[in-house]
Amino acid sequence: MRKLVIVFILLCLLKGDEIMGFYENINIIENPNDIDVLVNKNNKLDKNYVPYDLEKISILYSNDDKYLRKEAKEAFENLSMEAKRKGFRVVATSTYRSYDYQEKLYNHYVDEYGLEYADNCSARKGHSEHQTGLAVDVEGTENDYNDFENTKDFIWMKDNAHKYGFILRYPKDKTHITGFKYEPWHYRYVGKEIATYIYEHNLCLEEYKKISN
Ligand SMILES: [Zn+2]
Repeated sequence: MRKLVIVFILLCLLKGDEIMGFYENINIIENPNDIDVLVNKNNKLDKNYVPYDLEKISILYSNDDKYLRKEAKEAFENLSMEAKRKGFRVVATSTYRSYDYQEKLYNHYVDEYGLEYADNCSARKGHSEHQTGLAVDVEGTENDYNDFENTKDFIWMKDNAHKYGFILRYPKDKTHITGFKYEPWHYRYVGKEIATYIYEHNLCLEEYKKISN
């Protein structure tokens, strides 16, 4: 028994803060306007936070009225334009979402599929980076974000998004850190410099923030 306790303590020490549970010890974000702001299951946005510089994406690059913060919107339009020029299709299908809308969306998943499923694919209110106005879900030629992974558009996006300042936010091999399932359609604007660093070092935003602080 004693040996087991020692092994457990050692494992905790080795794993460091990865042992911290999702939705535990929640920190309220103090600088929500930072371009590299970390919003996740342990870092929450205030109920009243609305980005001050939301702008509508041109309908050429979105499938409806979609809003991102000015810098992210301009970068996304350039990305989408270049994709089109090269014969691909990358358009915005979900962008800024308010705190209240996220609450409804999450509750819908809980009601339909249960808590575990909901927490794996949808963020609780205040914990969605869609509230930052810096996140974008995209679709390609299939017209369905769920099929994005199987398109040539995704292959282009995977190796080009960082050139416009976007990262694949929930990679397949980082789910234990991000707390979200693999989402080939969800991209996050962090600026070209950080996006390129993250891309070249195969990191997720949580890992980048840890080494950059
Ligand atoms: Zn998303």
